[in-house]
Amino acid sequence: MKVKHGEYIWHNAEFIAWNNAQVHVMAHVIHYGSSVFEGIRAYMTDRGPAVFRLKDHMRRLKDSAKIYRMDIKWSVDELCLAALDTIRRNKMGACYIRPVVFRGFGTFGVDPLPNPVETYIVLWEWGKYLGPEALENGVDVCFSSWNRMAPNTFPAMAKTGANYMNSQLIKMEAIANGYTEGIALDSNGFISEGSGENIFLVRDSRILTPPVSASILPGLTRDTVIYILRDLGYEVIETPVPREAAYIADEVFFSGTAAEVTPIRSIDKIQIGSGKRGPITKKIQREFFSIFEGKRKIPEDWLSLI
Ligand code: PMP
Repeated sequence: MKVKHGEYIWHNAEFIAWNNAQVHVMAHVIHYGSSVFEGIRAYMTDRGPAVFRLKDHMRRLKDSAKIYRMDIKWSVDELCLAALDTIRRNKMGACYIRPVVFRGFGTFGVDPLPNPVETYIVLWEWGKYLGPEALENGVDVCFSSWNRMAPNTFPAMAKTGANYMNSQLIKMEAIANGYTEGIALDSNGFISEGSGENIFLVRDSRILTPPVSASILPGLTRDTVIYILRDLGYEVIETPVPREAAYIADEVFFSGTAAEVTPIRSIDKIQIGSGKRGPITKKIQREFFSIFEGKRKIPEDWLSLI
């Protein structure tokens, strides 16, 4: 797959060429998974290219690092400026932005603290994450035999590289069984989230989504969807959701920066609702994308113009 990427990468406040962004094989992160990262999108808007919820993403990056006692030298505001600078330097518009912070090479062994913390911001162009037709037709998914990590094992609120080993198990099993994506349950058997998306259920115009205590990553798209739904007058309830509630829902959809708002048309080969994108899912998609057309009122700091 050919993906267009930025020529320059931001590394510890300097720009380096793509090919020079290299890591030693003994970097701590390679052996022990010690990275935190973000996934952010810049959209073309009516006012030119703009990054969506940049400050909130950089805040989550700092939070993820704090949980792992990792010191990022730059403030949230400085990281935001760095991301915008990187986009300008690469002359990119709509793109995907990947800040990643990890423990580099300093010493040997598990103790992370003696190793340097490296901060990078990388850009590439990313289309529709779950396939070009997913937004309209929906995806076929399954429940995973893998659970999300229990709350006292890996902190789910931290977006760390290590958590994505669990996501990879979920994703690979789903693909091996012919599905686009898998949904994991939490350690109590309630619905948690997809390998890289949060999940919403609609039944009788009430909308349910698993709470933060269900080992989810508190998604910013999830937060945006809740904001839009409440603004439209819908009741959104963050509550433990049993697996079978998804089978009998009128509509189920994923939310995520990469997946945006993607309808789910079947789970475990059980058709959800009419088996097509439902009316509320369609409405949320329209409202979500209208943000970038300047047609929807949103908090001012949700769009950072490039
Ligand atoms: N859960 C997981 C496991 C994810 O990887 C993502 C994508 N970052 C999400 C949820 C959605 O989060 P966001 O809407 O902030 O992209």
